[in-house]
Amino acid sequence: MAMKFAILILVFLSIFPMNINAQTAEEFAAAWDKHHVSNILPSNVRHKDLQNYLEGLKKLGVKVEEVGRSYANREIYQIEWGKGATKIFMWSQMHGDEPTATSALIDMFAILQKNRDQDWVKTIEKTMTIRAVPMLNPDGADVYLRRNTLGIDINRDALNLKTPEALLLKKLRDEWSPEIGFNLHNQNALTVAGSTNKQAAVSFLVVYGDAEKIANPAHERNKRLVAAMTQALNNFIPGHIGRYDDEYTSTAFGDNFSAWGTPVILIETGALHGKDEMFLVKMNFIAFMTSLTSLADGSEKSFSPVNYEMLPNNSSGRISHFVFRNASIINREKPEEILTGDIAANTERRRAEFTAPTIIRRIDRLNGLSGLEEYDVSDYYLVGRFQPLKAGSFAEILFYHKNRTVDWTAADLEKQFPPDGIFSLGKWHKPLPK
Ligand SMILES: [Zn+2]
Repeated sequence: MAMKFAILILVFLSIFPMNINAQTAEEFAAAWDKHHVSNILPSNVRHKDLQNYLEGLKKLGVKVEEVGRSYANREIYQIEWGKGATKIFMWSQMHGDEPTATSALIDMFAILQKNRDQDWVKTIEKTMTIRAVPMLNPDGADVYLRRNTLGIDINRDALNLKTPEALLLKKLRDEWSPEIGFNLHNQNALTVAGSTNKQAAVSFLVVYGDAEKIANPAHERNKRLVAAMTQALNNFIPGHIGRYDDEYTSTAFGDNFSAWGTPVILIETGALHGKDEMFLVKMNFIAFMTSLTSLADGSEKSFSPVNYEMLPNNSSGRISHFVFRNASIINREKPEEILTGDIAANTERRRAEFTAPTIIRRIDRLNGLSGLEEYDVSDYYLVGRFQPLKAGSFAEILFYHKNRTVDWTAADLEKQFPPDGIFSLGKWHKPLPK
């Protein structure tokens, strides 16, 4: 009888896992759509914009305080929310040009605060205290560079502590001893998930903190949290979730936080062709909320660490932003020599408000490489608009149909012989005829 009862309980638990009142990924997405407060594309956010966001949080009643200054004397802030025993610590933008999570953190605290009457928020509030440092590297953020003003990568300064930002981060950890750390970054837009041509829009890593990777229960819990986040994000970006390279870096914060007793989950936001930065903010928000609610209501225990281990590893070198297949390339100085091959070109990373150049990376038979955008240009001659087309030059390209007669040495080629297509600044300035 007792046995039967136990089986019944098990069946009941498997049908109704512990997350009875947990929010679904769609509900988190809807909450973000309705309540998010970040309204600037993350790559355009400066320190003063962060300060405006934080003023908004304060007005909502969220605790925000200055906890230190950057090398160039910019204020660094910590947000605190919740009254529970479990201590969660999150920090973003220690690399100045990796901004997505800063906006997602602002949205997270705004949405938690605005929804304090909801059961799922109450559960978080009473079980955990969340502290977050958005934009740990405001000097780097203001010039959109990875490093701080001293030219030091803060994420390689966990042991030397030569930067005020690294010193502060370590102090905030040591004084509080949080149980989980979320280390929030951006990765290259052309990183892919596994042996595919799918961009890794989000990649995770459970950081061990030692070269031998000796697992303890906290690592297993963090793997379950990543499994929960992966399941949630699979509703929106299936196939676009990767596992970040698991390489031990003795001077990095993630590894050292884990070694000091705060096991870290690394979240790296990439890019997704056709989706803007705000979409990735929303994905971050859904990931954060999923991990926090599943931890707060215990439902993380129903996830398997195996689902983390099965994530495809990040890889690179498999995709380009643009591939022009079967190009016949004219060098105007030697028009009799026609070079044939595929052209791969990538767009540089800039703030959204700036025009980003697109640079030719390779001209070759590029069979193993996919383009996020691919064009078969076998019917055309390709000529550099301002400079010869070669690796390293701008992908500013004029296209002429092969049935035309063109004097390639003409002084004002573009005027005298209007091209059939013009590719400029990563766009079709004049699209090829269909
Ligand atoms: Zn980074």
